[in-house]
Amino acid sequence: PEVISVREFAEKLGVEPNQLLQDLIALGKFVAINQPIDFETASKVAEKYGKVVKLEGVEEEEEKALEAELVETPDREEELEPRAPIITVMGHVDHGKTTLLDYIRNTKVAEREAGGITQHIGASVVDIDTSEGKKKLVFLDTPGHEAFTAMRARGAQVTDIAVLVVAADDGVMPQTVEAINHAKAAGVPIIVAINKIDKPGANPERVKQELTQHGLIPEDWGGDTVMVPVSAKTGEGVDELLEMIALQADLMELKANPNKPARGVVLEAKLDKKRGPVATLLVQSGTLKVGDAIVAGLYAGKIRAMFDDKGRPVKEAGPSMPVEVLGLEDVPLAGDKFYVVESLEKAREIAQKRQELARQSALEREKRISLEDLFSQM
Ligand code: GDP
Ligand code: MG
Repeated sequence: PEVISVREFAEKLGVEPNQLLQDLIALGKFVAINQPIDFETASKVAEKYGKVVKLEGVEEEEEKALEAELVETPDREEELEPRAPIITVMGHVDHGKTTLLDYIRNTKVAEREAGGITQHIGASVVDIDTSEGKKKLVFLDTPGHEAFTAMRARGAQVTDIAVLVVAADDGVMPQTVEAINHAKAAGVPIIVAINKIDKPGANPERVKQELTQHGLIPEDWGGDTVMVPVSAKTGEGVDELLEMIALQADLMELKANPNKPARGVVLEAKLDKKRGPVATLLVQSGTLKVGDAIVAGLYAGKIRAMFDDKGRPVKEAGPSMPVEVLGLEDVPLAGDKFYVVESLEKAREIAQKRQELARQSALEREKRISLEDLFSQM
């Protein structure tokens, strides 16, 4: 680590060098103003002024060490099993994302409880019949690329396939282009749903033409982008769209190892008055079980109960399955990663370390801000 002199340290602390020398003498350190100050002494002095001293680069190292503890051991090919695709619906505002998701959920979500309203937990599992048998598709409930980008910004790549909704009576609009760019940046394949074909002004051919200008060439024009005309209102074309998504997923040969401790991503989390912290987790590998100890973001917990996307209690959840869980000790953030660890004690230990690191970097940010404030007053 870099060496800092008494003078430089005084400057950083915002203390007169003479005052600092006196503080050092009080600690039994007799040093000259241009001599270096050691870390421990600096820490003691800083404490007096309510500041925290950190060794350069240590935080990142600690963080790396923490991550290293949780590094996923690579799976052998024979341990991998097929998993359902995770799908995000994107597109311009009012082009029909929510209506399409609702249509798919309401007509395709099998085994809904009699008379019960399906509660949204952040993702929906859809069962479909294809020419190759039954398939599961998992739709994330939050449409739009903001959620997609927010997840990616936190290091969580969740989506396997993007469904781009373009209204046939409106065509390619600014957020359509943004969505295309985000999906491309993430390397996620795009399937286009040309929506609102029931409307009199609908012009699917024009939509195809416009998409061509953004690098999406329809299959029937010799390109490789699947474009399905649909109506989210009448349901026309939706079965074909789902079949195309399943086909695309088959091509991708999505796999994960279900036979190990689970890890994945927090899709949503909130504090429920009665049930405490409630989080929707998307399992990405392994199998999550009731009783598992987990770390989710900065917090620990032991899974007390789990519910699937239809609100039914479940004992375990494998890869690609979204579940609502109870038992976390606090509310993590959407996009946080979660890991199963061997015990609640271990989970708490990791959570505590993470909280310390988070606090330290928050302190660091505060200090920087106050320094900037000082400068702006000069
Ligand atoms: P979002 O902003 O992309 O989520 O768009 P919405 O799903 O909220 O839809 C915007 C409006 O378009 C609503 O009034 C929907 O009823 C309507 N809409 C969505 N899909 C269709 C469709 O296929 N046909 C028709 N006629 N209207 C639609
Ligand atoms: Mg909407």
